[in-house]
Amino acid sequence: MLNKDGVASIEQVKSRFPSKELLLKPKAITECYEEIPCNPCSTSCPFDAIYIGEDINTPPVVDFNKCTGCGICVYSCPGLAIVTAQIDGDKARFKLPYEFRPLPKKDEVWDGVNRSGEVVCKALVLKVTYTARVDRTALIEVSVPLEFLHEFVTIRRIL
Ligand code: SF4
Ligand code: SF4
Repeated sequence: MLNKDGVASIEQVKSRFPSKELLLKPKAITECYEEIPCNPCSTSCPFDAIYIGEDINTPPVVDFNKCTGCGICVYSCPGLAIVTAQIDGDKARFKLPYEFRPLPKKDEVWDGVNRSGEVVCKALVLKVTYTARVDRTALIEVSVPLEFLHEFVTIRRIL
C-alpha cells in the first residue's frame, strides 16, 4: 500500500485506468495519489483533458473522452508519474517517461518491471522520442503482454 511501503495497491492503480473500451485508444494514466502543489500535467495538456481545479494540491483527474494519448503530459510531469496506456490485441502499449542512460533503441527487448522494481515480463521497444523540447526526459513507447496491463510500470535494460 502507498502509505506503508510507497507502492500503490492494484486497486489504486486500476482506479486510474479507464474502461477497456476507452483503452482501445491511448489514454493518460496519472499515478499521482498524494495531495501535492503541482500542476504541469494540467497546464501542458493541449486538449484540456487533465483537471486539477483551483486548489493546486488536488490530485489530477483525466477526462478520458478528451485525452488523445498524445504523451505531452508524460514528459511534462516532474514526478514521472504519468504514462499512456492502450490495449492493442493481446498486447498493452505504453508511452513511458525515461531519464536513465543509455536510452533503449527501437526493436530492442528490455525487461518489464513492476511497481516494486521486480522484473515481470519482456518489453519490446517500439519507438524512442528524444528532442530538445522534452529536455532530458525521453518518451519510450513499448509493448508488453496484455496480462501485465496493470502491473507493468517501466523498463530496465537486461543485464
Ligand atoms: S496524453 Fe495528451 S491529451 Fe492526454 S492528458 Fe496527456 S497531454 Fe492531454
Ligand atoms: S505533473 Fe505529475 S506530479 Fe504534478 S500533479 Fe501532475 S501527475 Fe502529479
